[in-house]
Amino acid sequence: MSSENKNIIEKLRLADLKGRGGANFPTYLKWQTVLDQKSAKKYIVANGSEGEPDTLKDGYIIQNYPEDLIIGLKIALQTFKNSQAIIYLKKDYYKKYKTKLEKLIANLPITVFREKGGYLSGEESTLCQEIENKIHRPRIKPPFPAQVGIFGSPTLINNIETFYYINKIAKGQYKKTRFYTILGRVKNKGVFELPLAWSIEKILKETNNISDFDYFLQVGGGASGEIILSTETKRQVFGSGSIVVYDKLRTDPWTLMLGWADFFMKENCDKCTPCREGTYRLREMIRNHKLDKKNVEDLFFVMENTSFCAFGKMMVLPFKSAMEKLLK
Ligand code: SF4
Repeated sequence: MSSENKNIIEKLRLADLKGRGGANFPTYLKWQTVLDQKSAKKYIVANGSEGEPDTLKDGYIIQNYPEDLIIGLKIALQTFKNSQAIIYLKKDYYKKYKTKLEKLIANLPITVFREKGGYLSGEESTLCQEIENKIHRPRIKPPFPAQVGIFGSPTLINNIETFYYINKIAKGQYKKTRFYTILGRVKNKGVFELPLAWSIEKILKETNNISDFDYFLQVGGGASGEIILSTETKRQVFGSGSIVVYDKLRTDPWTLMLGWADFFMKENCDKCTPCREGTYRLREMIRNHKLDKKNVEDLFFVMENTSFCAFGKMMVLPFKSAMEKLLK
């Protein structure tokens, strides 16, 4: 192991790097968990599923900084003995970047994998199922993939962006930044690498994207992100790092919510009743423009507390925030 990469887990802890896939879990803890497992074989996965609508940062990193991603993976390969790495990509990224990545990984124990499903494929245990060629559904946790993952082996799953920053941290070049996707009714759409600490307002200002009309935002994902009003932009960005700007006068909140409901109905895996039936009922209420306060509260409570995986628990957020803030 090179001197730069020695004590990488300690460096990740000191840098306070959190996963960039949306869940915000401390990266060093995941690495330590995988390291602690007594197993002959370990897997490493760079998760480029990026199924969240309006989030483009992983594709941007593969397009512009593929070497940094590969160096991040090499550091993981050196840290975990007898390990093998997989770059796990959604279908269009696979088509676009497979050849480019394969040139960079020649002679390394790294392969490029094309995911089979959609949004849920980025969920860690579903990702393990896909690589094992099993049904496209999440597994019960714990055990977490870092303990028991692909083919029963400890599996380190980090986002593409996380691996990019692991390389920067190993080299002492991490400046506490992240990649933000800015889309919607803005002048200057794109992916921008900017400080983590900046507020939404500052990000929009510095990227020349402050609107001169009354607007609201969806932050942290174009489906599962929260609705933020123009009066709430002192907050920082969360989730997958996306900001979508909507013109308040020109956006019908019912149409917006119906779009999310259609998306979640299509993408859920039908395994558990709260999510499967809850999504259906929610869509029905939105389609009919009829939201009974008590029914909606009960539905959200059940989905948040009893859904089998994060999909059903987290999808409540955009609806809750839109209903509270846009339907007054
Ligand atoms: S919460 Fe939704 S996506 Fe998750 S297992 Fe249940 S039905 Fe499937």
